[in-house]
Amino acid sequence: MPIISNMEIFEAQNRISGVIHRTPLCHSESLGRMAGVEMFLKTENLQKTGSFKIRGAANKILALPREEGAKGIITASSGNHGQAVTYAARMCGYSATVVMPKGGSRVKADSIKEYGAELLFCGSTSEERISYARQLRAERGAVYVPPYDDLMVMAGQGTVGLEIMDDLDGIAAVLVPTGGCGLIAGIATAVKELNPSIAVLGVEPEGSNSTGISCRAGKRTALNTIKTVADGVRTTIPGELTFPVVQRYVDDMLTVTDKDILRAQYLILERCKILAEPTGAVSAAAILCGALPEKFKGRRVVAIVSGGNVSMEQLRESFDPPCRS
Ligand SMILES: *Cc1c(COP(=O)(O)O)cnc(C)c1O
Repeated sequence: MPIISNMEIFEAQNRISGVIHRTPLCHSESLGRMAGVEMFLKTENLQKTGSFKIRGAANKILALPREEGAKGIITASSGNHGQAVTYAARMCGYSATVVMPKGGSRVKADSIKEYGAELLFCGSTSEERISYARQLRAERGAVYVPPYDDLMVMAGQGTVGLEIMDDLDGIAAVLVPTGGCGLIAGIATAVKELNPSIAVLGVEPEGSNSTGISCRAGKRTALNTIKTVADGVRTTIPGELTFPVVQRYVDDMLTVTDKDILRAQYLILERCKILAEPTGAVSAAAILCGALPEKFKGRRVVAIVSGGNVSMEQLRESFDPPCRS
């Protein structure tokens, strides 16, 4: 089983440093006081395209030989990954095609179109879309960029970890929101290979906890139903390539409720002026709701604010009174 190492992550850092933002690591005294820790937020909501996904997409696409990229880039995600892939492809002068679900969100379709992608509509499940994307890859010779289960994508996401290690000493734990596990596989590799004494903790919504279940079962285990407000981590099973990395390097998996997530989203905006999408607030939620193990009390912990792509409608929901206290 091929597993990435820090070498691939350092290579990714060199490859993408000119096209991504080096996002600030923000200290929040106010949130830290509430949670009884020294709390830092890695602000990937400020990243190009509004989430960390550009790191993996750019690493994969910039490394392609030009004649391969020129046949076009395909992906099946209409969310942050679709925007990131489209942005990275257009930047290189390649065409981008995004396979979207029939009857999906208009807002998302418009946004992807604005980024410059061709839109194709197919089915309603991600399996149908991925198989259509694969069929297009075969027909056109185009390059398919998976959202997490890819070594170049994982290595790109790992650059978040290198930046954190560069910016801060004395870290006790790094908390990472977890869907298909590309982000946590990359960050855990970067952090653990530089300093194995730092804990890397994954955080999932209670209603979408396939990685926690898989870790406890000792093998990849699928969920039948997913229920969470955090649309960036609605994954039914961790990746084939990413999961072994999680098993090797991740110390623990924590869960949070949707209410915890929306409250964290609210507090991060109010106290730190940082705008997160619900998924972007998942790891901070674990710290703020008391899910963090006792041994980290009073110590330095970092939460990844993984994205900030949020509609005004969603924001209004988050700010309804129940989430404020
Ligand atoms: C994709 C995404 C995640 C989860 O990343 P995985 O690599 O699938 O685990 C978390 N937060 C945001 C904002 C995302 O877009």
